[in-house]
Amino acid sequence: MLRFKNLGSGSTGNATLVEASGIRSTRLLVDCGLGIKQLSLRLAEAAPSEATSLDAIFITHEHSDHIGCARQFAQRYRIPVWMSRGTYEALGSPDFDGLLHIATDGQPIDLGELQVTPFTVPHDAREPLQLTCTDGNAKLGVLTDLGHATAHVLTHLAGCHALLLECNHDTDLLEKSSYPTFLKRRIGGPYGHLSNTAAAAIASALAHPGLKHVVAAHLSAQNNSPNLALEALSRSHAPQWGSPEFSAAHPTDGSLWMQVSA
Ligand SMILES: [Zn+2]
Ligand SMILES: [Zn+2]
Repeated sequence: MLRFKNLGSGSTGNATLVEASGIRSTRLLVDCGLGIKQLSLRLAEAAPSEATSLDAIFITHEHSDHIGCARQFAQRYRIPVWMSRGTYEALGSPDFDGLLHIATDGQPIDLGELQVTPFTVPHDAREPLQLTCTDGNAKLGVLTDLGHATAHVLTHLAGCHALLLECNHDTDLLEKSSYPTFLKRRIGGPYGHLSNTAAAAIASALAHPGLKHVVAAHLSAQNNSPNLALEALSRSHAPQWGSPEFSAAHPTDGSLWMQVSA
């Protein structure tokens, strides 16, 4: 069984728990963009008996809303950490005390009951990776922090049964916002963040009858709202593909546990 729970999403900090259970359970934390106290609290709320029993941490890129307390947390509980070489170097190549593993575009990582495949995305970080997770049966796609969907991104996400998908901003709200022009350009540019419309086009391109959940993530507090994101997602969804459940991850409460089934 494969399931996931977002623990917080957006510029205030990102972390998502992914769990596959078969003969035993494998638990992965995707991004660690919170303080150690807050992360421990949210992990304990998600799974009280196993709060710190993680098998691996995967860091998508070096931005502070994703890296957070990764090094401190990993070292405290002796958890292996995966990230790209570029991300590691952008962090200043810190000592991970033997816990660091380098992740590479397209190279699957076996973590017990869970297999993770990272893939490169266009974002203004050194070597950002996003990922798919599978228990050999169901497939989850995690896609936040990218300016646009490349063919490479869509190929990796084909056949996903659930998506945690960035819906960063509403284009009009961003345009009319008080952000300085350079920031508007950065966010809305090809190496920035996905608009609701761009996210909806991705969901639509990936739609198939087995796609059951789309969780909107990394929503801007200033330039978006859950309603706008969900409206955009459902508007672009062709009815012949069935009706996936659309929901939005809360900045601090994240999402409910979502079961991913094939
Ligand atoms: Zn981010
Ligand atoms: Zn980022």
